[in-house]
This record gives sequence, structure tokens and C-alpha cells, in this order.
Amino acid sequence: MRFLAIALIALGVAGLVAALVLPRAVESPPSGGPGDPTATVPDEPPCPGGRPPVPRADRVDEDRAFKLLARQVKLGPRPAGSEASRRLGEQLRRLLPNGRFEAVPDSGSRPGPLRNVVGAVQGRDPVRLVVVGAHYDTKDAPGLVGANDGAGGTAAVVQLARSIRPRQLGPTVVFVLFDGEESPAGTPSDQFRRRGLSGSRDAAREYPGAAAMVLLDFVADRDLSIPREANSTPAVWQELRAAASRVGVGCAFPAVSRSAISDDHVPFLETGVPAIDLIDFDFDCFHQPCDDLNAVSKRSLDASAEATYELLARL
Ligand SMILES: [Zn+2]
Repeated sequence: MRFLAIALIALGVAGLVAALVLPRAVESPPSGGPGDPTATVPDEPPCPGGRPPVPRADRVDEDRAFKLLARQVKLGPRPAGSEASRRLGEQLRRLLPNGRFEAVPDSGSRPGPLRNVVGAVQGRDPVRLVVVGAHYDTKDAPGLVGANDGAGGTAAVVQLARSIRPRQLGPTVVFVLFDGEESPAGTPSDQFRRRGLSGSRDAAREYPGAAAMVLLDFVADRDLSIPREANSTPAVWQELRAAASRVGVGCAFPAVSRSAISDDHVPFLETGVPAIDLIDFDFDCFHQPCDDLNAVSKRSLDASAEATYELLARL
């Protein structure tokens, strides 16, 4: 048991070190496999046809979630600080329960000021708090509308927030839509950690005592398969896999770990908050104009959202 604990700590440290040295888009060989030592929930056969099945639970309205995804795409490219991003921010603030803005300090290399959109649903427990997040900006690249990379996670987080009633869950859930996750156009990938993740760095300082942080990034890919991202806290990831299995979408969360990715969960990990990143990084349209409505599906968005709801119900 002690060996296991030491091994887990070593894995965690290795993950953080990997995050420090790996640029965001670089894939390293899988660190796990069907024999992933962090996997405690049995693996399931791959989803039939590579697509997740209809979830057994129906607590998140997937029609509304997908409409919100499509509405964001319709706004066109939404780089941080742009007119389109500011307009979207207003809409998101109105949609989130108790929605408000929080100004985000930035280096000034964006077209306008940055702001996170924050909402919350009160839990039964007066002190326990869980953060659920996604970024709502898109990478500043020609023609990139970010259906999966930006709109999907944002839609899932908003619809989750609108599905949970006050005092229904144990912890209070704070929903944060991060601004400025993407680095400004032309930033070398080795500067991503410093010039991207702006909104999450700021938010992580606000919630150092959070019991957990759950990040939804690439969660709407038509061929959904989300392995454990190597920085993600193994114990919380296993809770997610168990939750996914209970709602009938366990096949979309295989028992493997993939490369560490610098993403909005890392600032939370650095403050000691257990955190996971739902990111299907096997995505051919990463930062490409083909990351549009053809790249995503309502079914995948629903599977990610229902699994996350089930996880929140047990945290
Ligand atoms: Zn991106």
C-alpha cells in the first residue's frame, strides 16, 4: 500500500514535470495502457462504431446544450478580448445561475480586456466547494470557430449549471468559464504556460480550498474517447470513470493514460486542488477550420455532461 502511495505520488510529480516541459500540442507516447496502474475501474470494450451510446441518465438537456454549442459557433471566431468574445460573455453571464464577471489581469497583447464568467449553485454542505470549468475563447487562427475546442466544454458547463438545483448536491458547485485559455496568435508553444491559461490562473487563486476541480475541454468530438490526461489526479479520474460507467457511457472513458497537457486544470493542481481534465486530444481538427459542427455531436456532448453530473453527485 505504501509502495502504491509512493508510486502514485511519483506519477503525479512526473505528470507535473511533463506539463512543465511539454508544449501543449506535443503528444508523448501513452504512459498507460490496458494495464494502467492508476486504473481501478474495469475497462469496457470500445464504444460501438466509435460513438458513445445514449446515456442511461437524463439529467442534462442535450438539446439545449447542443443549441448553445451551435450558437457559439455561429458567432464565428471568438479570440479572447475580441468583439465576438465580449458578446458571448454577456450571453453566458445571463445563462449561468448567479452569473457575474470577474476581470482577469492580462499582458495587454489582446484586442480587449479579459474576464471570466462565474456562476454558482449552493450545495447542502456549508463549506465544501467544487469548481467546474471550461474555456470560452477560441484560438486566434484564421477561420477557427472552435466547435469542440471552446464551444463544447462551455455548452456542457452552462447546461450542467442550469440542471442542478440549490441544495440538491453536497458541495457548492462554482462554474467558471475561463477567458484567455488560448495564447495570443503567433505565441511559440513553449510560452503557452505563461501567455495562455490567463483566466484559470486567476480563478485558481480564488479557490485554493476547493475539494476538486473538473475541467471540460474537448468533450464533444463525434468519435468520443477520453483517456486519462496524465496530469489529472488519479483518484478523481477513477471517480469519473465509475460515474461514466454508472450512466452507461463507460466505453468512452477507456482505462488508459495519455500524455500530460498544459490546460486550465494545471493552475488548480499547482495550488494543491485535485483536478481532472476531460480532453479527447486525439482530434484531427485541433486549431483547424474543420473544428466546426461536422466535428462534434450532440450524443458525445451529452455523454460527457451526464458523466460529469453523476461525478458531481458523488463528490
Ligand atoms: Zn485550443
